[in-house]
Amino acid sequence: MAADLNLTWQECDARGDQLEVVSYRVELDLREAASEATTFVSRTIVVFDSTGPSTWLDLVADEVASITLNGAPVAADAYTGARILLHDVVVGQNTVVVEARCSYSRTGEGLHRFTDPQDGATYLYTHCEPTDARRIFACFEQPDLKGRFTFAVTAPADWVVRSNQPEISAVQDGAVSTRTFAPTPPLSSYLIALVAGPYATVEDEWSITRDDGSTQTVALTAMCRRPMLEHMESDEIFELTKAGLSFYDKEFGFPYPWGKYDSVFVPEYNIGAMENPGLVTFKEDYLFRGGATTMQRTSRSEVVLHEMAHLWFGDLVTPKWWDDLWLKESFADLMGYQVSQEATRFDQAWLQFASGRKLWAYTGDQLPSTHPVIARIDDLEAAAQNFDGITYSKGAAVLRQLQALIGTEAFFAGARDYFAAHAFGSATINDLLGALQPHTDHDLWRWADAWLRTTSPSVLSASVERAGDGRITSLSVHQECTDRISGEQVIRPHQLAIAGYSLGSAGLEKSFVEPVTLTGESAEVPDAAGRRADLVLLNAGDLTYGIVRLDETSRQVAAAHLSTLPDDLDRGAVWTALWNLTRDGLQPAARFVDAFVAQAPSEPNAMILRIVAGQVQTAVGRYLPAAERDAAYAALAGVARNALAGAPAGSDLQRTWAELVAEFASHTDELVPDAQALAAGEVPDGLELTDSLRWRLTAALVRRGVWGDAEVEQVLADDDTLIGRTSALTARAASPVAQEQTWRELIDGRPTNDAQRALLAGWAISDPGLAFADRYVELLDTVWDGRVQTMAQRLVTGLFPDVDADDDGRAVLARIQAWYDDNPGSPAALRRVVLEQIDHAQRALRAQESGR
Ligand SMILES: [Zn+2]
Repeated sequence: MAADLNLTWQECDARGDQLEVVSYRVELDLREAASEATTFVSRTIVVFDSTGPSTWLDLVADEVASITLNGAPVAADAYTGARILLHDVVVGQNTVVVEARCSYSRTGEGLHRFTDPQDGATYLYTHCEPTDARRIFACFEQPDLKGRFTFAVTAPADWVVRSNQPEISAVQDGAVSTRTFAPTPPLSSYLIALVAGPYATVEDEWSITRDDGSTQTVALTAMCRRPMLEHMESDEIFELTKAGLSFYDKEFGFPYPWGKYDSVFVPEYNIGAMENPGLVTFKEDYLFRGGATTMQRTSRSEVVLHEMAHLWFGDLVTPKWWDDLWLKESFADLMGYQVSQEATRFDQAWLQFASGRKLWAYTGDQLPSTHPVIARIDDLEAAAQNFDGITYSKGAAVLRQLQALIGTEAFFAGARDYFAAHAFGSATINDLLGALQPHTDHDLWRWADAWLRTTSPSVLSASVERAGDGRITSLSVHQECTDRISGEQVIRPHQLAIAGYSLGSAGLEKSFVEPVTLTGESAEVPDAAGRRADLVLLNAGDLTYGIVRLDETSRQVAAAHLSTLPDDLDRGAVWTALWNLTRDGLQPAARFVDAFVAQAPSEPNAMILRIVAGQVQTAVGRYLPAAERDAAYAALAGVARNALAGAPAGSDLQRTWAELVAEFASHTDELVPDAQALAAGEVPDGLELTDSLRWRLTAALVRRGVWGDAEVEQVLADDDTLIGRTSALTARAASPVAQEQTWRELIDGRPTNDAQRALLAGWAISDPGLAFADRYVELLDTVWDGRVQTMAQRLVTGLFPDVDADDDGRAVLARIQAWYDDNPGSPAALRRVVLEQIDHAQRALRAQESGR
């Protein structure tokens, strides 16, 4: 992002105090969208009240044709490339009219345009968070300046055109039609939305009759591009949507405020989904081509319910500025899992949260870039980077802990008061705490200081003393945490549970669960005395947020018997504990690999298997000393081959093991015959050779040098779709001999967002090691220029050299560190990403050394 595009907190805060937006009318002419035209005409009429004489509008346009303020023309030089400076604003009401030409995007920001290789059809959609509405029309781009938007869109008459509100009129003129949509309720500019194109649509509705006799009906529409319609599973989308609307209607106590509810699945999307009121956009990966696992379906459920929660938390009541981003994201993230668990058939949502989502938080919270959940956000570039594991997943985990402290009923009662008090406005953390406080005796301000204004995870451990017969004689739990930013010791109030498992003839059995209130450094658990426990697990049931350590006895028992532990959530938690010991360099990575080899084949839950299998690949590829890797991959190959052969037909376990054969095959020749057989359709009974599996196998076989362009072309011929083409990019880039070309495509070729992701995925499989390290360091000087932040960031992350704990690796890491030290004036957002990557690399080196 060029400096010119940045907006600071101070200037937006002042503008927010000065202005009140009355209305926007936005007219977009998209009639040439299906041609080669690179721009579209955008006309905005904005009416606002001001208490001061000057302000500015935000706009990123190719060309500004005219600007008038209260009927008088404004000189062309008022437009700076990102702002329209307005010097003659009157105190009271003003009207500005801006006519401009804005660009279609291929990087997912603003108005994205996509042409389907399958049928040549053009699809448009918008994505504006945090500040890309200004790429479509002139606006006051900050969340607390809400306006009522009326959109009028001229587009081919046979297209589907949708916006936040329903269409109220259409005027056809030959092959084009101008559709006008109802004015929105007060809305922040980052929440406006539009889709246009030959989208396929399926309709349904949700209705409710409440206890007080009131009724409401909401029209539901699910949409996707035409070739994906057969995969849309609209029944399941609607089932989730209805479950969510019913849950939120009851618990939030504020009727759904946005009229209709459209869900649209769009190609080339940068993020998972976006909570535009009345028109929620999702990435197309949430439509499954071929069979999907429960894990994939749970993820989809979670994201549907996450976005829907935002329609209250974020859209109805909006954080005043990006420093309260967590206020909407943490809450929505928690709701996504909680409502999936409680109101849908996806009852492994808490497992996915504990074993998957929270690791994003633990990882981010250990980085030098960690920040309090309530972060200070000085400007937009910083805002764009805080859509991270702290803001989403740690925040959600902390709110789950808050529910454990004050109770779910109090939590939702506070939420109801919050919505009632701030509907259609904006709010801060103090507004939320103020709404919750009357519903509990706990001091929430102190609670917030401990949980929301500190950084780094607490480390939770237990001291266990056992008698000769294995019975516990004393059990106490401890917490410790050094805030990585302030350097201070942090003690937090934890509500948690501790569980004991003992070894019986059939494996591990639960012997006790005790609640623990830990408010100081330590707490005794007297009721555990006399119980048998060969494995003691803190944070059973996953109520709190903290890294759990296992005592040495528990660790050994886990490595030998973990797959027999009967509770999925607790078994997942033990795996997470083993993983964190490995990441933190407290046990050699070989111990984690051994645990996987011993326990994964009998792991009964495919979700846990999928997550742990990702970890074991990192353990071998990054944390194990280089000399031990080949033997470890060979061991993984044997495990995957046997487990696939023995997996129940048609099960998620079978699908997951097939994926793992494909993934492990890229690291070892041992699995090449297995991968070739699967790719040729020789699959075990019950296993579907989906396009996705076929592409994974293809990438692995290309990586091993067994397949080349001809085979990739053959697979592509069978799947010549958008997804097929991006998968082919990955497969080709997986070849070690393609690295030079991949590098050039990534750096000089200016790929689309999807192509960039695909190329980077292939790049990682190709295993470039240090071969491009010099060019990487040079790239850091220029990567930020002329690229949007998301694209630049992905390059810095994805191309970072894989360093090992040897002289060459250390030299490369030192050079990158030197670049960091010598360039204090480089963009702060770039520096943050580089610093994080250096930290990941140092962690890998420490882990490798702990294995020696
Ligand atoms: Zn969200």
